[in-house]
Order: sequence, then C-alpha cells, then structure tokens
Amino acid sequence: MLKVNEIFYSIQGESTYSGERCVFVRLTGCNLRCTYCDTEYAFYDGDELSVTAIIEKVKSYNCNLVEITGGEPLLQNEVYILMEKLCDNNFTVLLETSGSVSIKDVDKRVINILDFKTPSSKMDNKNYFQNVELLKTSDEVKFVIGSKEDYDWSKSIIQKYDLDKKVKILFSSIFGKIEHNALVKWILEDNLNVKYQLQIHKYIWDPNKTGV
Ligand code: SF4
Repeated sequence: MLKVNEIFYSIQGESTYSGERCVFVRLTGCNLRCTYCDTEYAFYDGDELSVTAIIEKVKSYNCNLVEITGGEPLLQNEVYILMEKLCDNNFTVLLETSGSVSIKDVDKRVINILDFKTPSSKMDNKNYFQNVELLKTSDEVKFVIGSKEDYDWSKSIIQKYDLDKKVKILFSSIFGKIEHNALVKWILEDNLNVKYQLQIHKYIWDPNKTGV
C-alpha cells in the first residue's frame, strides 16, 4: 500500500514536458522542509491505496504521461513497484524527486527529474550528490532559484559535476521571490547551457490552487 495525497489530471507545469497533458500521483510525506515549499499539504494527509488501485485510477484519465511526485515520493518502498508497473503498462513515467534520496533502485525506464536544493531552501546540506553518477541522458536536473547566491551556487554545481554534459538542466525562478528577467539576464550573461522555465501552472490557475 502507498499513502497517496492526491491523483489528478492536469497540464505539466515544469520540465521539458511542460505544457503536456499529465496525470499526477502525489505521494504523502517529505523528509525536507524547504523554505519555499508549496506542497506542505502533502506532508501528512493522504489515503492508503494499493498499487493496482493507483494504476486503475491513472488509466481512467486516458493519458500516457504520468508524474510521480510528492512530498518526496522515494520515501515509500512500494513506489518502486508502482513505477515499474506503470512502465510495464507503457506509460511514460516522470519521477520528481528532491535529490536527497538515492535513485539507484528506480526503474531505468523512468525519467528522473532531480531537484537539487539551492541555499535559499535551507535544505542544501541534504543534497545527495552521488545521484549524479546514476543519471541517464533522458533525466533532468532542476535548480529552483530565489537569489543571486542560489544562481551562483547552481552554476558551481553544474561546473563541478559537468552536469550540462550529462543531462538537460532546468533553471526555475521561485514564484514571487525573484524577478524572472533577472534570472534570464544572468543566464545570458554567462552563456549558461541551461533551460529557463516558468512554473506555468502558477500562471494558468491561482498560484495557491492545489490539484492542478
Ligand atoms: S522537497 Fe519538495 S515537498 Fe519537500 S519540503 Fe521541499 S519543496 Fe516541499
């Protein structure tokens, strides 16, 4: 059984899959407490569902793209079976994970979206950088940036691990915390090999709306 906070059908708001229809499976619980967290409602609330029940619900939306998210989805052991079975059922499976937990047991067909924590999250000491060695070319690494310090830190991590030669890098500005054009300006000035992204779901709907 897995504790599930919500399952919903919406538009993917981030990553290179941004704009695509997607079913989201949000699992309950997180080991981190980022300062800018917008999903605190997923820390404790949820219902116990079997892997079979989750897959049936996902199938009911008739959409091939599924994202497993949280909270931190890798904290629940059965998530690995869920992802494997979704892949077996020919779903394209995205895993949004904080980067604080090893991805070594994640099915290789799953696309990992690793969200390394920048200093303004106050959780940057929890990053598990050994994950870099496990990344596949289909995976993505995201940096959520709320200040120039976050930007410089992210740039140094990319350089240290040669990350942009391994995977697609996403830079996202923290909604309401930093001017979008400031981040874009720094990227262009440094000619940084990253993809800038907006969290488009926060523009389509009320930024505080859940289940979208
Ligand atoms: S990892 Fe994600 S869900 Fe957990 S506290 Fe940070 S932003 Fe919130």
